[in-house]
Amino acid sequence: MPAITGLLRDLAAGNVAIIDLTMPLSERTPVLQLPPPFANTRGFSLREVSRFDERGPAWSWNDIAMGEHVGTHFDAPTHWITGKDGRDVSQVPPTDLIGPAAVIDKSAECAANPDFLLEIEDLEAWQREHGPLPSGGWLLYRTGWDARAHDQAAFLNADASGSHTPGISAACARWLAEQSPIVGIGVETVGTDAGLAHSFDPPFPCHAFLLGAGKYGLTQLANLAALPPTGAMLIVAPLPIVGGTGSPARALALVER
Ligand code: MN
Repeated sequence: MPAITGLLRDLAAGNVAIIDLTMPLSERTPVLQLPPPFANTRGFSLREVSRFDERGPAWSWNDIAMGEHVGTHFDAPTHWITGKDGRDVSQVPPTDLIGPAAVIDKSAECAANPDFLLEIEDLEAWQREHGPLPSGGWLLYRTGWDARAHDQAAFLNADASGSHTPGISAACARWLAEQSPIVGIGVETVGTDAGLAHSFDPPFPCHAFLLGAGKYGLTQLANLAALPPTGAMLIVAPLPIVGGTGSPARALALVER
């Protein structure tokens, strides 16, 4: 049987399920907040153009406005200074947007310590159990943070010392960028880096190393708990914004039942 025919049959029969990894996009969607003197991006907003009225009697439509990096979204290499000569979001090849997903679950560790950082040793332990990280695939990092996404304060978890959200150590980010065969990392938090990553060496190492290596980021994912450690297929669809450094994206996973 042709592969796509077989996949469609398995989807119809429920042998393959579609898991939506995307957070709903609304004016309540949490947005990164940088401290002064840095500029901040705008959150999502929706303005009515017409709604079955004199402005358009038979149709309803809206204008939307938002930053590239709002909600579940994709980071292209040109987002960071280390990747500024790399691909913008319109130049990302579709073959990088569909691939195997490796899922590492550190939700228990992050519940105990919101500043938890993923280390190389964690990925080595994962590989001993599940095999090598997939070539051309995505590492999806489960922290349990999606449970907080309904509330900006809980999601950003900031106090006087900064934002306390889990991330990846500088050494591990460098290893993922330079030693692993993945094309990108997906997280549940507002960005791929830890909340305190401004103080790391280098600052924001996940952005600096991965985007500098031509790899990608994917943030504010939901429902990673529904994915197996291996065997899922990630499909991520950022808009091909010409010159764009990122884009809100729909992220789906196919999993076998
Ligand atoms: Mn981003």
